[in-house]
Parts: sequence; C-alpha cells; structure tokens
Amino acid sequence: MRISVDRERCIGSGMCALLAPEAFDQDENDGRVRLLDARPRSSSAVREALDACPSGALHIDESGD
Ligand code: SF4
Repeated sequence: MRISVDRERCIGSGMCALLAPEAFDQDENDGRVRLLDARPRSSSAVREALDACPSGALHIDESGD
C-alpha cells in the first residue's frame, strides 16, 4: 500500500490528520494536508481517513511497491 495526496484538491478539513496522525498532518501555513508517511504500518486508520476526506484528495495505491 502506498498513499498519495493531492494538495490542490485538499480543502483543509483536517479529518485525515485527526484519524491517521501517523500518516497525515496539516500544513501550518495553508491548512492543507501534508503526507508524513506514504507507507504507514497501520492501514485501517488510513482507510478511515480516506473515507472521511470530503474532497477526494487522498489516494491509496494497492498495487504494491
Ligand atoms: S481530510 Fe481531505 S480535505 Fe481534509 S485535510 Fe485531509 S486531505 Fe485535506
């Protein structure tokens, strides 16, 4: 699993940083998502964050490395 983020789509709601803080943070300047870890150990929190993201800015590539 590999995560990618689209900062142009992000509206800064902060759900991802709340639900999966090991993988996501918010930029302190513009509030948009910052990717901390593209390959986090726990995928369940990341999937929750993806489901909760209102802008579709988060993506998971399941195809492996
Ligand atoms: S949940 Fe989505 S819209 Fe909200 S900060 Fe994260 S990537 Fe941006």
